[in-house]
Parts: sequence; structure tokens; C-alpha cells
Amino acid sequence: MIKVNEDYLKLPGSYLFSTIAKKVAAFSEANPDKKIIRLGIGDVTQPLCPAVIKALHSAVDEMAAAETFKGYAPDLGYAFLRDTIAEKVYKPLGADVAADEIFISDGAKSDSGNIQEIFAKDVKIAVCDPVYPVYVDTNVMAGRTGTYDESTGLWSNVIYMPCTADNGFAPEFPETVPDVIYLCFPNNPTGATITKDQLQGWVDYAVKNKAVIIYDAAYEAYISEDGVPHSIFECEGARDCAIEIRSFSKNAGFTGLRLGYTVIPKNLKNEEGASLHALWARRHGTKFNGAPYIVQKAGEAVYSEEGQKETREQIAYYMNNAKVIYEGLKNAGYSVSGGVNAPYIWLKTPDNMTSWEFFDHLLETANVVGTPGSGFGPSGEGYFRLTAFGSYENTVEAIKRIAEI
Ligand SMILES: *Cc1c(COP(=O)(O)O)cnc(C)c1O
Repeated sequence: MIKVNEDYLKLPGSYLFSTIAKKVAAFSEANPDKKIIRLGIGDVTQPLCPAVIKALHSAVDEMAAAETFKGYAPDLGYAFLRDTIAEKVYKPLGADVAADEIFISDGAKSDSGNIQEIFAKDVKIAVCDPVYPVYVDTNVMAGRTGTYDESTGLWSNVIYMPCTADNGFAPEFPETVPDVIYLCFPNNPTGATITKDQLQGWVDYAVKNKAVIIYDAAYEAYISEDGVPHSIFECEGARDCAIEIRSFSKNAGFTGLRLGYTVIPKNLKNEEGASLHALWARRHGTKFNGAPYIVQKAGEAVYSEEGQKETREQIAYYMNNAKVIYEGLKNAGYSVSGGVNAPYIWLKTPDNMTSWEFFDHLLETANVVGTPGSGFGPSGEGYFRLTAFGSYENTVEAIKRIAEI
């Protein structure tokens, strides 16, 4: 008998997006004349900007000459990119982050999934509900989440922090004190943000309780309002309790190129002096061979003057879609949130429909595909996610159809 990792077998059945794909395929087969518009995708659609393409081409050419050829990348990332991030991302925020505290990786999904490896097997994790599924599932794989309750959709050993309209989609301090707290703002799926004061409250809570916050800032580039923190390291005391995860996927369209990074302050240690920075460096050194040189050069180009201008334009394009969705739904009488500092619009399903009932209703009557909120956690029930990553034309058409149903 092949002995498999039993913890993997505990993961509940079908993945949200494969269920959606199956339903859409069945509808499309039965209704071949209908034009389906997909506003469920969490992937960018705009091509890479010229500054990035130029950097990719020239990095590829470097690989062709013996003097400039690059083999294995340094496993923590090239200094040119780590320095650029420290200088262009953190310094302007007044955040105290040094280049050697930045670990370059192939993306935020891997980092947010792998980071749990450096914590003890019995740590208690806390997550927002609804939540980006990677945080919980990777802890399930690591065997620390207890048992799954089919009827509630909750794991016995995970602390859930419901985020609903009642609390403005902002988590409240849990009754049981967690060891590791996952926060993601601007949030996927709700599109909600918290203020700098609220985030400072979480940092104070973590320091007081000797907990670690894993802060996923993948959507930082979409923040349009003042008073919304771009990094947890804007908060006082964050260097004693926080790890930040970032991605080039949503701010620069690298979903296919793959590039991200994680910041771990050097002074983040436990009481016995074990350094999380050192553990993560050890982990990278053992299990990761570095992001590709050409991709890191492309990442550097994002922070050039042209790169910043061009990626800002892409974000503005998506955020204009977000506005079309937000205002169109609002005018049609829907209760909506998000969409101001994030490419996600979170709406309350009408007539007390469940998330999946509304999914079917929208697919059948408007031929529009979105994502059922319940797929992100039990507190997402009765909500629905639409994304701003489609084309402007499709977005306008989809919202017109939804308003007419
Ligand atoms: C899209 C997304 C990421 C980015 O993942 P990559 O692996 O860098 O593409 C990370 N966290 C959240 C919450 C996301 O939605």
C-alpha cells in the first residue's frame, strides 16, 4: 500500500473554480448561441506593458552572450531587485524595510502557502471569513486545522473572523488568541480595506499577544483613497510581529511571468531568539532556486519611470471597470461594496438567494459568470463577487444585462 499524506485527503472535494467551469461549460453547450461574459476571473487581461517587454527582451539577449549569461539565480533574489523594492516601494512609505529583508519568489500564492512551514505544527491560525483559500488549505495540508465540519464548512482548529456587512467587512479581534493571523487588504474576495488606525490596532494586538501577522498586500496598487495603508510596515511595531507578502501579478500583470516577494524583518524573533528571517532564508535556500533572471529584470522595470506610468494606466483601466460595475449595480438597486481600492466588487444577492442560486440565475438570465461568495467561506454565503479584470466593453455589456433582469 502506498502511504500518502493523510492530511491532503482531508481537503474538501471539488475546488470552487472547477465547479464554476463545469456549470459554465454545461450551460454553454446547451445554449450555443448565447454570448457568455466572464466577470468571475481573478486574472489580469491586459498585455504586459512596453517597459516590461523591453526589459525581458534585453535580459534574454544577455543570456546569449558568455560574459552576461546567468545560471542559478541567488535563491533570495538578485540585489538589483531587492534594492529597487526597498528604495521604490518601502522608502516612499516611510517604512523601515532593508533590501536584505526582502525575499524574491515566484509569487504570492507560493509564499502565502509556504510561509506556514516555519511555524510549529500546533500553532493556532486565524483567518478572515470569507478568505483567499490558500491560507487555510495549506494549513490543512500541514495537519494543523483539526477536523472539517461539512455542515458549517469550518475547521475545528481554525479561528474564523467573520467579515460581513455588519462589521464593514473588517475582522474583529477573536476571542481565542491566535499564534498566526492572516490578513489580506485590500481584500480578495470582498474588495474591502481597513484604515491605517485599524491596522495599527492589529499590530498592537499581535505584539501584545506575541502573535505573528501574515499580511497579504497583493492588491496594494489598487488603493485610491488616503488613510488606507499600503504596507503593514507603515505601522509602529510591525517589525516585531509582521511578515508582508507582495506580488507582481495584479499590479503589473505578471500572472503568467511569476514574481513576488516576502518581507521578514530581521528582528522578528521568538522569545528563545529563533529568527523567522533566518528560518525563511533556510527554507528558500533548500527548496527554491530563485526566480528567473529575466523575470527579475522585468520586475525591476516595473519601478522605472515608464514602468510606473504604464502599469498605473493598466490599473486605472481595471478600476474604471470596477466603477462601471459598482455604480451600475448600485443604480440597479443592488447592495454593493468594494471596487474603490480593489478590483473586486462584492454584492449582496437579491431576494435572499444563496450565492449558488444567484450564480445560476445570473448565468441563465444575463449569461454572466461571477463567483459565489460562499466559495470563499461560510460568511460569504448570500454574497457574490464580480471582478474588474474583463474588457471595458464586456464589463459595460454585462452590467447592462444584469440591470435588465
Ligand atoms: C492573486 C492573489 C495573489 C497573487 O498570487 P501570485 O501567486 O503572485 O500570482 C496573492 N494573494 C491574493 C489574495 C490574491 O488574490
